[in-house]
Amino acid sequence: MSHNDHVSLFDDALRRLDKAATHATIDAESLARLRSPKAFIEVSIPVRMDDGTLRVFTGYRSRHDDSRGPAKGGIRFHPSVSPGEVKALAFWMTCKCACVGIPFGGGKGGVIVNPQELSRLELERLSRGYIRQVADFIGPDTDVPAPDVYTNATIMGWMMDEYSKIHRRRTPAVITGKPIALGGSLGRGDATGRGAYYCIKELEKKRGWNPTEVSVAIQGFGNAGQHVARLLHADGYKVVAASDSRGGIYSPDGFDIPSLIQMKLDSRRLEAVYCHGTVCETIDAKKITNEELLELDVDLLLPAALENQITKDNVDNIKAPIIVELANGPTTSEADEVLSKRGTMVVPDILANAGGVTVSYFEWVQNRAGYYWTVEEVHQKLRPIMVSAFNAIYAVMEDKKVDMRTAAYVVALERIGEAIAAQGTADFFVKS
Ligand code: GLU
Repeated sequence: MSHNDHVSLFDDALRRLDKAATHATIDAESLARLRSPKAFIEVSIPVRMDDGTLRVFTGYRSRHDDSRGPAKGGIRFHPSVSPGEVKALAFWMTCKCACVGIPFGGGKGGVIVNPQELSRLELERLSRGYIRQVADFIGPDTDVPAPDVYTNATIMGWMMDEYSKIHRRRTPAVITGKPIALGGSLGRGDATGRGAYYCIKELEKKRGWNPTEVSVAIQGFGNAGQHVARLLHADGYKVVAASDSRGGIYSPDGFDIPSLIQMKLDSRRLEAVYCHGTVCETIDAKKITNEELLELDVDLLLPAALENQITKDNVDNIKAPIIVELANGPTTSEADEVLSKRGTMVVPDILANAGGVTVSYFEWVQNRAGYYWTVEEVHQKLRPIMVSAFNAIYAVMEDKKVDMRTAAYVVALERIGEAIAAQGTADFFVKS
């Protein structure tokens, strides 16, 4: 994807803001403040490579808004990271945290790199190097990073350690999604998939589904995709298709998800089902492309990879009546219009994937208290947050006769607007 596409990703994100604003009670001043990030930095990160040469990587961090609390959001390592993409992702984080009512604003960071090309030592130097460059920009009370695409708990651990060294005090609350041994929270690993699963369980109640009759296709088999697949499969849902960056597999009778996950972990690719290993031979599947996966005739489509997957070019071929967005921004605003007119229900990213940041909030709370919860406590606290956000948004959708995304933005914007207006808007100052 080109740089320009990502610049327009932010404009596309603002289009949603404008649409939702017509249905929300929010002051014009608050809206104006949300149209650009509060702060944005670009850094260069020199890294000594294993062969002795130096490579200079480019990284970004956007603090979109912090009216409701410190900025919060992941760091992505990906070759197509760009300023526009990072700004859009940070904007979505502001809306996401407000949507589920956790006391954070929105931030996001990224480094232009394909981490698969780096050795582990190079990856560690890059991760620590990034933190050295943004150390004055982040902090437990200003901006708290976390994992995102192609970053993980190990990387968060290095980053927390680097920040702690710079500040000469152990500071676990500066970053979430850490290894458990370094102050991570139990239940953070599967939180994004689990949050989406709780949303699907609410839909199941509303629609009276029998899970064994519901077919599911999942685009992306990373952290979010694998966990939602595992939880749905355990309840009897039929996961008939899954894909990763190299392609997908399809089997109308549904996959045995635990073996699929094991295979992905062992080989790092789904295509391995075509190899001649023992597990491989037990799985009977047809090879499909990522594009074909999106167009399958399934009951539930779960995009769990990257942004801009459902666009004006393929939206007419999308057959699933329900889409649950585990990725950030998988549907463009143009495609959204078509889906909304056609009556396709989209459980939007800022609700469907908010389980991750919600357990990040729990991790931050536990770090600050120095007191750690059991995994049962984490689940017991996550579920009501997801369920009440889902139902509040569902009610706004029915009440205002809007699509679910617009309803989610209405809920989010009213909360953000309230926080901004609490410090006074023109209304208050002009009258006084
Ligand atoms: N990267 C995740 C997201 O997009 C998690 C962010 C966090 O936990 O702060 O929601």
